[in-house]
Amino acid sequence: MLGLMQNWPLTVDKILDHARNWHGDREIVTRSVEGPVVRTTWAGVHGRAKQLSNALKGLGVKHGDRVATLAWNTGRHLEAWYAIMGMGAVCHTLNPRLFAEQLCYIVGHAEDRIIFTDLTFVPMLAENRDKMPSVEHVVVMTDREGMKGVDLPGALCFEDLVDSGAPDFEWGGFDENMAAALCYTSGTTGNPKGVLYSHRSNFLHTLVTLGVDVMGLSAKDTVLPVVPMFHANAWGLAFSCAAAGCKLVMPGQKLDGPSVHELLETEGVTFSAAVPTVWLGLLQHLRATNGKLSTLKRVVIGGSAVPEAIVRGFRDEHGVDVTHAWGMTEMSPMGTLSAPTAKVAAMSDEDQLRYKLKQGRPPLGVEMKLEDDADKRLPHDGATFGRLLVKGPAIAGGYFKGDGGNILDAEGFFDTGDVATIDGQGYMQITDRAKDVIKSGGEWISTIEIENIAVGHPTAANAAVIGAYHPKWDERPVLLVQLKPGETATRDDYLGFLEGKIAKWWTPDDVVFVDDIPLGATGKIDKKLIRDRMKDYVLPTAKVAEKA
Ligand code: AMP
Repeated sequence: MLGLMQNWPLTVDKILDHARNWHGDREIVTRSVEGPVVRTTWAGVHGRAKQLSNALKGLGVKHGDRVATLAWNTGRHLEAWYAIMGMGAVCHTLNPRLFAEQLCYIVGHAEDRIIFTDLTFVPMLAENRDKMPSVEHVVVMTDREGMKGVDLPGALCFEDLVDSGAPDFEWGGFDENMAAALCYTSGTTGNPKGVLYSHRSNFLHTLVTLGVDVMGLSAKDTVLPVVPMFHANAWGLAFSCAAAGCKLVMPGQKLDGPSVHELLETEGVTFSAAVPTVWLGLLQHLRATNGKLSTLKRVVIGGSAVPEAIVRGFRDEHGVDVTHAWGMTEMSPMGTLSAPTAKVAAMSDEDQLRYKLKQGRPPLGVEMKLEDDADKRLPHDGATFGRLLVKGPAIAGGYFKGDGGNILDAEGFFDTGDVATIDGQGYMQITDRAKDVIKSGGEWISTIEIENIAVGHPTAANAAVIGAYHPKWDERPVLLVQLKPGETATRDDYLGFLEGKIAKWWTPDDVVFVDDIPLGATGKIDKKLIRDRMKDYVLPTAKVAEKA
């Protein structure tokens, strides 16, 4: 027997309709790419997005066509985002931090017909335009004044395009399972693969993120998403802020400590989200300038593991609560958050910290299991490492155009490629990417755990751990440290600092001081590049073992 409730397709245009209808005067503030801070409202975004849908229709865009954005977080990017999805086309967010070659591959693979771009990326597009044969139009997100400096034949002006569109456009009206957005994985192995979100998956993900123990946003919040819309949908904030009616503060291209701090203070931001490196930059800036955070209450941090020093810095110096989150492009992206359970909330601050540093517990809509290499389920004892697999309505069931073949196991779970533990309270902790974990004498060593402790050393700017060949143990850990400018330290300083904080046999066999720890396009440590740079490195302990 079927239920008798209304059929109300879960399409994301309804999220912006809701924002216009019930939070229409809430502001969207942008540090524009041109420089000045500019303001609009949810009603303003709604009206202009409808005009833009009409203009796109005029350019021949149809249901299912891919329309790309190569853009920072701005009000205009939001308008393009909703205009594309609302009319049933697919909004393909391109990550401008990728190499031009990778971008050309992705644009070709997606068969993007139009690219919306910020002024920042016009030179790159001009240089590579002939390597993007599917692209019929490039729309530069600026006004006529901004177009004066654009050297790209045939480029369209965003403001003119919006103005050319009639105000009314009938959004939605199609199946909620239609594709809404496309985002390629960072592709650390092989070519990047496309994750194709549906309207339904984005809508459900939005409802999930609104939960108090997830993003927990309210109409009273002012939100600054530092996390880009091109990286895993700004963790859903472009949808959830509209759904909750938050004021939104878009940082544009300036993501350094001083610029982020200025916006946090001048706009009265209460909630923000970013990867750890952004927060390290902010905390360093605040210490150097004796800066304050007078309105910020909560930050969600994810993308890579949160070092203890960040949680303590926010808590002890600014009274700001940190929620650690884990997820991935394939998960829309939220997977787990470190929100306290009743039992954990009753603990002392110091005891709670142990749980805050874990990646956390899944919200409704995310199933998780831990398995060994023989697909046998592993215990949730907080100690046993295993492959982490996930299942849910906002998790990829396959990649665009079938790349990678069948990606689900017999039970319909997707292998995240992460190695994790789950403790008795249900808190998941990532110990590594499967390809980064160090296998030493048949046992596994977590590189992330060692890195997080090492980066807490007062002289460390950043730290990374990789495995190096060892004739007896197969692999042993090497700690690479990038020192803060002007600091000095020795190998023994770092080994002494780790002592007692990790198992003795996890102690790195060597410490190497390097000029930089390279980061990839999504702000994560680029271990592939580090391994490449270290390919001729030989462990001192390996030499000794070989002689013996
Ligand atoms: P992406 O799809 O680019 O967001 O990358 C997803 C991957 O980033 C995950 O599979 C993890 O390996 C890593 N990741 C994301 N969040 C965290 C976190 N909080 N701690 C450790 N690794 C993380």
